[in-house]
Amino acid sequence: MCDLAKFRFLNLPGLDEASLRSLFPTFVPMKTLVVYCIDPRVSGIPKAVAEHFGDEIYPGEVILDESGNKVGATTTLFAVANAGGRAIGALQSVSTMQYLFNFKNVVVVHHSFCGATSFTPEGLIEAFKKEEGVDISSAYDRESLSIADYEKSLKYDVALLRSNTGVPKHLNLYGFFYNIDSGELVEVVRDIPSPNPT
Ligand SMILES: [Zn+2]
Repeated sequence: MCDLAKFRFLNLPGLDEASLRSLFPTFVPMKTLVVYCIDPRVSGIPKAVAEHFGDEIYPGEVILDESGNKVGATTTLFAVANAGGRAIGALQSVSTMQYLFNFKNVVVVHHSFCGATSFTPEGLIEAFKKEEGVDISSAYDRESLSIADYEKSLKYDVALLRSNTGVPKHLNLYGFFYNIDSGELVEVVRDIPSPNPT
């Protein structure tokens, strides 16, 4: 049987959790996490955000060691995709990336003619009752299920991130709207924490 344990960082000789954590920012210089939709029409969003900020590298290149092993990357921007590009589906990624990379920005992007604008929370909940025989009305907050108003959904998602204990207070939070046909990216919400008083 294949020895899968040898592929685990913590099983490598001479490395422990603290030393690995200090190494991760040297593997990839991550600065920004982009949260966007799994809609195949919006695969250009991470690149558009990188160009909007101007000081990001995306997709960058994978870095190889002398043996050809993949040991890092030059990208500064990571992307996490979920249905609608919603903050609720990105919380675990924000906490994990903070632990490994101590990054700076979270950018939530909602896009024109998103599937999440084609239904209501009530419609989805009713369908689950009828088709699956289950009540999921308390499984998710309703505002995270569909998009009724882009400005509200972006403000809601930035506020959801800001209020979550797993989202570090130093992070800059942004909400953008992306037009799938023109490729235009518009900033709708910006929440930059004020620097700590000295
Ligand atoms: Zn979408």
